[in-house]
Amino acid sequence: MTPRSRNINRLIAIAGIVAWVACSIASVSAQRRAVRPLDVYVVDVEGGNATLLVSPAGESLLIDTGNGGAAAPRDAGRIMAALHDAGVSQIDHLIITHWHGDHVGGLAELAARIPIRHFIDHGANVQPAPGIDEFLRDEYPRLYAKGTHTVARPGDRIAVGGLDVRIVSSAGQVLSTPLPGAGQPNPYCASFKPTTNSAEDAQSVGADITFGRFRALHLGDLPTTKEFELMCPNGRVAPVDVLLGLHHGQDTSNSEVLIHAVRPRVAIMNNGTRKGGWPIVMKTLFSSPGLEDVWQLHFSVLGGQEYTVPGLFIANRQDDQPATMPIAPAPAPSGPDAPPAPVHDGAAFWIKVSARDDGSFTVANGRNGFSKIYRARLRE
Ligand SMILES: [Zn+2]
Ligand SMILES: [Zn+2]
Repeated sequence: MTPRSRNINRLIAIAGIVAWVACSIASVSAQRRAVRPLDVYVVDVEGGNATLLVSPAGESLLIDTGNGGAAAPRDAGRIMAALHDAGVSQIDHLIITHWHGDHVGGLAELAARIPIRHFIDHGANVQPAPGIDEFLRDEYPRLYAKGTHTVARPGDRIAVGGLDVRIVSSAGQVLSTPLPGAGQPNPYCASFKPTTNSAEDAQSVGADITFGRFRALHLGDLPTTKEFELMCPNGRVAPVDVLLGLHHGQDTSNSEVLIHAVRPRVAIMNNGTRKGGWPIVMKTLFSSPGLEDVWQLHFSVLGGQEYTVPGLFIANRQDDQPATMPIAPAPAPSGPDAPPAPVHDGAAFWIKVSARDDGSFTVANGRNGFSKIYRARLRE
């Protein structure tokens, strides 16, 4: 063999190796893309809560079941639509964050439509009310007797394949040791001002959900006093990509000690037409370091145009939709003479997050088809 043909052979061998490496990289990234995402459906239950997570393996975790009474068939139907869209035929895990009607009201109706395997709650109701106390005494034990029942404690894991789901608050207790990536001193603690709250909100079961490098947090209606306990003096939860729920966007939750410390890229608010979406909460969100977008289930008249996001980011209208929405926020009405909130019983739409394990995610508005890709951020 001449030196020249030896060189050619060497070049061919190198080219072969380069091609093999390039192919391998391409096929690894193709496989990565083929891995199913974690899907999160934020279902519109009119200022209540129902958030469905479906793992890449198809396991489901539902957080709350919407409203009860006359609204139960509507809300259970909307949750069923999300389950159907996800191709899910049973609810593997159900967290009831707390015993308020806008979170647990639709449970019996939903349980009549789909099997529920695992019930998770904070334990006894601490805010006596006839309807819920009767339900907890007479009906709830019959429902969880068909599956399993767990009273959650901070630090517990919920076994959802492919996800790391950790309980961060329950029954008035919060996580005592920081989750991975958390534990830093929180500079917002010094200026914290507590708000008053209802007894049951403070019992909320909160969950931190990690999928690879993607992280989300849902704290039910956990009030500011408990946000302070969870985040001060050192944060027990790490920064998140998506903050879910936000207690409908009311100011009894959503303090800076929580929001500004967990620095969500995206917040998805389960507000109603006239519930939550308060100006003070919108200000806290939009002044939060690193916040990219707020998505809302409704335009809230309590925020008005002044404190809302573009319609692209709002999933639902109301049944009798006026041509224009008010600019100024309206004060929250109270008392028996308050007019009813704008009704939305018609077609309803979710906000859907599809998260990938590299930390990137897409958020989509079910009403108008608008979606936005959030690329994986470089971790410091
Ligand atoms: Zn609520
Ligand atoms: Zn509540």
